[in-house]
Formats: sequence, C-alpha cells, structure tokens
Amino acid sequence: MSFAEILGQDGPVSLLTGALARERVAHGYVLTGPEGVGKRRAAAELARALLCPRRAPGTAEACGACPECVRCARGTHSSYQVVTVPEDKREIPIAWVRERVIEPLGLRSADGGWRVFVVDPADALNAEAANCLLKTLEEPSPRVALVLVTARVEHLLPTILSRCQVLRFRPLPLAIGRRVLAAAAPAAKPAELDQALAAAAGSPGLALRVLSHKVLAAWSKWGDRILAMGPVEAMDLAAEVADWLKKGAATLEDRRVKARPFLELLALRLRERFLAEQGLAPATPGAAPGPRRPLELAERVMEAQLALDRNLKVDFVIEELFLAIADQAAYPGAQNPSSPATVR
Ligand SMILES: [Zn+2]
Repeated sequence: MSFAEILGQDGPVSLLTGALARERVAHGYVLTGPEGVGKRRAAAELARALLCPRRAPGTAEACGACPECVRCARGTHSSYQVVTVPEDKREIPIAWVRERVIEPLGLRSADGGWRVFVVDPADALNAEAANCLLKTLEEPSPRVALVLVTARVEHLLPTILSRCQVLRFRPLPLAIGRRVLAAAAPAAKPAELDQALAAAAGSPGLALRVLSHKVLAAWSKWGDRILAMGPVEAMDLAAEVADWLKKGAATLEDRRVKARPFLELLALRLRERFLAEQGLAPATPGAAPGPRRPLELAERVMEAQLALDRNLKVDFVIEELFLAIADQAAYPGAQNPSSPATVR
C-alpha cells in the first residue's frame, strides 16, 4: 500500500504527502467525503509514514518493510491507535477516548517519535467523547497527530472542525471507480459494475457490498418506491423486503450482510436529498422527490441496521422503518406538513 495507490483524490492526498515531505504535519485532520473512496486508507498511510524510521527525508511514503511498518499493517504498533465503535455499542463512548487517546497521551512515547490516533467514524463520538477530544486539540502535544475520519462531517462539533485541517475526499470519477471496483469484483459484468457504482454514488466500497450480496436487483425493484411510498404501500413493501432479506439467509450474520448494503443505499439517498435541500450538493437529476426530514430518516435507517445487528425480528424492524419513512411522505394528500410528525 502507498499514497500513490489512492486513486482520484489528488487534492487531499497531495496535501498530506506535501505536509509529510516538508515535516509540517498538522496535529489535527478531518478526512471527510463519501464512503469507500480512500479516506481510511489515507489515514493509515499517514500513520505509517509518520512511524516508519526508514522514510527518506523530503518524501512521504513509508518503506513498507521495516518492523514498524509491519506492526502498523498488523494493527499492533503501540504508537498507532485506531478508535472505533465498540461492537456492542452504537457510538464511541468517552471511556474509549480516555483509555485509547487521553491516557496514552499522558505517557511519553518510548522513542520520542510520533504518535497517531485515528478516530473512525468520528461522527460516532458522543458529545462527551467529542468534548474530551476537543481538549487535546486545544492543547496539542508535540508529535501527535489526531485523524478524524467521517462521511458525515455535519455531525462533528464546529469547535473540532475549526481546530483541524479539513481534507475533502470526492466521489471518484466513474472511470476510476470502475477500475477499483473491477479489480475487487473480477467476476462482475461491466454493466453490473456501472449500475452498482451509480446506485452507490460512485463509492467502490459500497458498490462492492451491493454486488457481493446481490442487492442491486432488490434496490432497482424497491428503492424509488420506498422513497415515495405512503403508509398503505409501506406495509406491503415492508413485507416484500423482509421476505427478501430472510430468503436464503439462514443465519443472523447472513441476514445482516444482506441487509446492510440495502439500508446503506437507502440512507445514502436520504442524505443526498438533505444535502441538496441545504444547497450543499446538486440535486440528482430525475431522482424521486423523497420524504421530508431526510436527515432524521437517514439516522432512523442506521438505527434499523443496529436493530438487525442485535437480532430484533426482521419483519418488525423493516415495518417500523418503512412506516417512519411513509409518515414523512411528500406525496400529494399526505398528512399536513405542519402537524407534529414523529420520526423516532
Ligand atoms: Zn518502514
């Protein structure tokens, strides 16, 4: 792996490699942009480059072969910590931030070298945990890099954003997305690659999950209808989708891997609608109008995913979710928008 292998992200990658080459690495970075376009890899490359003792002065690439590089790759380097959501939780609790960032920061690193902390996804930090991290950004220690990775930058505290260098990763150009995806899914037909990429808004990571669980056909069949449905249709669609999720998915894990990309596509469409409404992204031409309060509904979709992860009944989870979406339907004759609609 190297920075050179992160395709289609010349802007953010050249900022990172330039900072490394000039030894002017910031103490805080926010890497933001769509899922699956190289943010996580860039964070890992930055860590490796900072920790590799064989990196030549004036260059940005780790050697990839020394013991430090090997430890980074295995995730066992004591100066490289990735803080993520605990398996049984839905957010990053303050206890983890204390244990994995604040306490190690209080100790001197063995060799006086860099220490790198990656928080991924940073939008999963709860308010307490985010405030705790903010303190370390306000009083940065020398040779410490804090890297926050997120596809949902609007969930980060403005005070955190203002103390970090924000690097925006872009949706990949179709040709590059296709190349990345084709390498990861050699058996897929070119038309399938394009359809999956289009559904996943150009993210090869999501497109790969969509392809590997045959979600594409299901999404083409139901996606637009779900975003436009009213309450009556919602019950029917919920039953159809729940049946599809259970079909051929005997175990909880099977069902989970099948449901995730489908729900990710749904959340993606809702977030796109929110960003278009806010003038933060162009509206997708020809897209279904979609429900009101799309950002809250996107959150609701993520909650449904967590409920499925916890083995709550598929039929129940999908029905609840679809009714919440239908409750915000923007179709003519839907409930009065001024009435207090509940999403949660
Ligand atoms: Zn090395």
